[in-house]
Amino acid sequence: MSFTLAIVGRPNVGKSTLFNRLVGRKLALVDDQPGVTRDLREGDARLGPLRFTVIDTAGLEEATDESLQGRMRMLTERAVEMADVCLFMMDARAGVMPADQVFAEILRKKSARVILGANKAEGKAGETGYYDAFSLGLGEPVQLSAEHGEGMDDLLRMLEPFA
Ligand code: GDP
Ligand code: MG
Repeated sequence: MSFTLAIVGRPNVGKSTLFNRLVGRKLALVDDQPGVTRDLREGDARLGPLRFTVIDTAGLEEATDESLQGRMRMLTERAVEMADVCLFMMDARAGVMPADQVFAEILRKKSARVILGANKAEGKAGETGYYDAFSLGLGEPVQLSAEHGEGMDDLLRMLEPFA
């Protein structure tokens, strides 16, 4: 029996970068530029000995602050319903932003099983944001660098119970 992991979080925190790392192919679009719209993307992930399904939530890149909440709520709720566990990613360099708090609230209301990932944590720049992430009330964050492949062992340990 395998499990499904949904990667959720506001735009630009590094969800697709991690998705691509886990899937090993460029299935998800990684783009800094606004105007790129995607929906939910599914791939076969491997991490150490684990094999699982991973869902990347996107399609929020065009959203403005006002439209973000409705769209993100819909996409995130759909992903949460499809998944056994969610990886909620925040940007440890940016710190906790209002949109992160909206996501945390959606996940709490859905009673989703959540792993909190503080991404972009390579080097010193992510330290403040990592401590900030505790304030989301979703437990101890896992320090990740999706781009540099750091924190993958810790992520593996967090996912093992779902395998
Ligand atoms: P998404 O919108 O959440 O899917 O975010 P993306 O995966 O598209 O990444 C947004 C930007 O953050 C891109 O420029 C990535 O290269 C960058 N990024 C992703 N992961 C990391 C990381 O671990 N460290 C740093 N410094 N940048 C990252
Ligand atoms: Mg993306």
